[in-house]
Amino acid sequence: MKSEECRICQGVCLSHYPYVELDGKLYERSKSTGKCGDCGITNAYHHASCDQEYCPKCGLQLWFMCECKMGSFYLKEKHEKKSKD
Ligand SMILES: [Zn+2]
Ligand SMILES: [Zn+2]
Ligand SMILES: [Zn+2]
Repeated sequence: MKSEECRICQGVCLSHYPYVELDGKLYERSKSTGKCGDCGITNAYHHASCDQEYCPKCGLQLWFMCECKMGSFYLKEKHEKKSKD
């Protein structure tokens, strides 16, 4: 049973994921302050295809204008290197 289904994101809701991979690097996504005029989320990361979400790398609309190569979405930054060399 899937409890995390989001109609807007068509699957797991992307508002749970603070980081997005762009051109192979992780960036923190832009967050809605107050209620988002497009996707309707409040003080959280936007749903998929929101025209108010801007690319943290190039500054263009992430889902429409941006030409960065979008990879996966992540809960945490993955550069937690524990090796001491
Ligand atoms: Zn969503
Ligand atoms: Zn939004
Ligand atoms: Zn971009």
